[in-house]
Amino acid sequence: MYFVEVVLPLSLAKTFTYSVSEAEFLFMKKGMRVAVPFGKSKIYTALVIEIHNNKPTLYDAKEIHQILDEFPIVTESQINHWLWIANYYMCAIGDVYRGAMPSALLLESETIITKKNDSFVDESLLSDDEFLVYEALQQQSSLKVHDIIAILNKNNIFPVIQKLVDKNILVLQEEVQENYKPKLVRYVRLHTKYDTNDGLKELLDILKSANKQKEIVLNYFQLSATEKKPITVKKLIEAANSSAAIVKALIEKEIFEEYFLQEDRINFAGKSREGELQLSVAQQKAFDSIKENFEHKAVCLLHGITSSGKTEIYIKLIEEYLATGKQVLYLLPEIALTTQLVSRLRTHFGNKVAVFHSKYNNNERVEVWNQVLRNADKAQIVIGARSALFLPFYDLGFIIIDEEHEQTFKQSDPAPRYHARDAAIVLANGHQAKVLLGSATPSIETYFNATSDKYGFIEISERFGNVSLPEIVLVDLKDKYFRKKMNGHFSDVLTEEITAALSLGEQVILFQNRRGYSPIIECITCGHVPHCQQCDVSLTYHKHKNQLRCHYCGYSMANPTRCHECSSVDLTTKGFGTEQIEQELITIFPGAKTGRMDQDTTRGKFGFEKIIDSFKNREIDILVGTQMLAKGLDFDNVNLVGIMNADNMLYHPDFRAFERSFQMMTQVAGRSGRSEKKGKVIIQTYNPNHNTIQQVTHTDYVGMYKEQLYDRQIYKYPPYFRIIKLTLKQRDFDKLKEGAMWLYQVLSQNLVMPVLGPEEPVISRIRNEYIRTIIIKIPQQTSIGNTKKTIQKILNSFEAVAQYRAIKVTTNVDFY
Ligand code: ADP
Ligand code: ZN
Ligand code: ZN
Repeated sequence: MYFVEVVLPLSLAKTFTYSVSEAEFLFMKKGMRVAVPFGKSKIYTALVIEIHNNKPTLYDAKEIHQILDEFPIVTESQINHWLWIANYYMCAIGDVYRGAMPSALLLESETIITKKNDSFVDESLLSDDEFLVYEALQQQSSLKVHDIIAILNKNNIFPVIQKLVDKNILVLQEEVQENYKPKLVRYVRLHTKYDTNDGLKELLDILKSANKQKEIVLNYFQLSATEKKPITVKKLIEAANSSAAIVKALIEKEIFEEYFLQEDRINFAGKSREGELQLSVAQQKAFDSIKENFEHKAVCLLHGITSSGKTEIYIKLIEEYLATGKQVLYLLPEIALTTQLVSRLRTHFGNKVAVFHSKYNNNERVEVWNQVLRNADKAQIVIGARSALFLPFYDLGFIIIDEEHEQTFKQSDPAPRYHARDAAIVLANGHQAKVLLGSATPSIETYFNATSDKYGFIEISERFGNVSLPEIVLVDLKDKYFRKKMNGHFSDVLTEEITAALSLGEQVILFQNRRGYSPIIECITCGHVPHCQQCDVSLTYHKHKNQLRCHYCGYSMANPTRCHECSSVDLTTKGFGTEQIEQELITIFPGAKTGRMDQDTTRGKFGFEKIIDSFKNREIDILVGTQMLAKGLDFDNVNLVGIMNADNMLYHPDFRAFERSFQMMTQVAGRSGRSEKKGKVIIQTYNPNHNTIQQVTHTDYVGMYKEQLYDRQIYKYPPYFRIIKLTLKQRDFDKLKEGAMWLYQVLSQNLVMPVLGPEEPVISRIRNEYIRTIIIKIPQQTSIGNTKKTIQKILNSFEAVAQYRAIKVTTNVDFY
């Protein structure tokens, strides 16, 4: 009797036993995928995690349909890590498996399969089975697995689909269509016919009387001698102090050839500049200290102020790990930052850099997966957001977690609700790898670990090139409104500074932590505010579309002309978002080109890149944005940053509000003055004396840390307590209230630690489901494992109570 233990890509905590033939048993290895029947008629791609001879006692093992892999595509250390995640974050192993794999590797019966529109298909290259599927899709727009089983008259069809996906003929359902093509950069190279010494002489002869053209050609030679990398038209024109017209003339004369490359896909064909990087004294000191710390510490924190050149230190460290043949994982909070980083890393490491992008399509993700698995040269360094953690690393030596304080490292929905920083530390442990956490504004938890000797701790307190930190100017909004010095939401100070910056040809960044035009519309007559029908939130006004929209469920309605309650036409807007700031800019600075970066303008695969590209290319003078702007972007022409209103961040009902406000303002401020000139940051606020604002103004991270740490101890929060948050949801208000109370009581009776709730959150209804939360605070010295076991038992009995079965409970460990 031969069996395999498999994980299904479903939210099921259990593994399942299937039977296999002897031949299959002998072939099978842990980490291979198998297609299995499940339930009445479903088929799933399951993962084999055990091979054994133990017949299940509770059910008859079904047979697998087939083995899908020739060798394991998930490693054993990965399986162990996933089991750790499931256990620590209290979710099903199936959730981890489903979240970890590129969906193209998880074909299932419900997957919708369609034909790719634009691809050319050479039918003679298709196998008979492939051709049948292809032909069926000429008649029908989409098929499901069962249709294909019927067409091919056999069960073993997943490999056929996989081949067609690999051949770029089929696509699986959730792939988004993307229209934007990333900006192509224009390059020139010398025509090959002049690429010899004789050719050069001939060329200079031709240009004898064309001085301006000759100037460009000479500059071209100089640049290619020093830079050893492709030369952009922009750079050439700058270097030669010439014009686009003259380059064009040279192209027309066939002296130059122009060509285009996508910015993050530049192929250096091995001509990388490894080893050329010169660290500053402060950087070198930090670098040495990190290496020394790694001799006895697995994790280090690099606390370096904004623009201290942390990236360059990372690059030096990566060089060392690559030299030992190990893989490197570089995690970023936001994949949008990759474009800048990838081009920086490719300059040093050429084609060894792979990017794992959740917005990439299935094929691209599968490609990176396979490269990492094979330890291919192309994926020695993997850059990605949190999900890159799930790749099948073969021999990981080093993990960098840049901007480690960022909230986006914690996945909040769906399960697994893991924190990528913490999960990465565990991953590294499994590989005996080292972890470097980097930030200018570390999280309280990490700084605590670093200063209590758990982590190594390295600081850099000067900016690279001794550029000074920006000057921070506080503007008291109360005073400005009182003295009528405001134009819209712009104080006189901010207006003057923007005017000055624009007149110098410099760019400006404005930060407003709220999107939309204005958060609410209010009736002046009766005070009514339109709310979402499904959620307990007011609707946000979006002027551009003249709509009211719910930011929680996406519900939208046309902007009303009359109050729904009293029919009055006197409606007014309150509060303001990025859209309104952009509108005001157009009136106050009519000559300036404005751009906006928020969730509304950055949808789609290259949404971010599009805006960042145009800002970098100086097609935008003033960029308005939400916190997306705070994440490590490097612009050299920005010396002025304005924070439109610091207060709405400070007064979030959240124990991290002050920590986050400090981080956000410091990070946004850090976008200013990154080249020689001293930058300026204007913070508009009603509370210029607020401790957090003062701490930002004086770059007083330690002051912020001490104050927050004190509060965390008093109010029982991390790092002194671990937080587990339970969220209960149901459409029936009374049932939910009753169930939440039951759960709360049982928890507090069985746990010797603070249990808070059941609380009605600030937003207590989303998509027509009512919400209650319960918070459990586990003291640091208590065993978290045992506590979780108790909680899990209680949750299991809660589920067993018939009248509570309809209540959905989600568990968020280390709630952020
Ligand atoms: P951080 O990530 O600490 O904010 P960056 O790594 O982005 O800072 O560095 C800030 C700027 O200084 C970048 O433009 C970078 O290219 C430049 N820089 C930093 N270190 C060096 C170095 N050793 N040599 C040349 N340029 C450097
Ligand atoms: Zn009204
Ligand atoms: Zn809603």
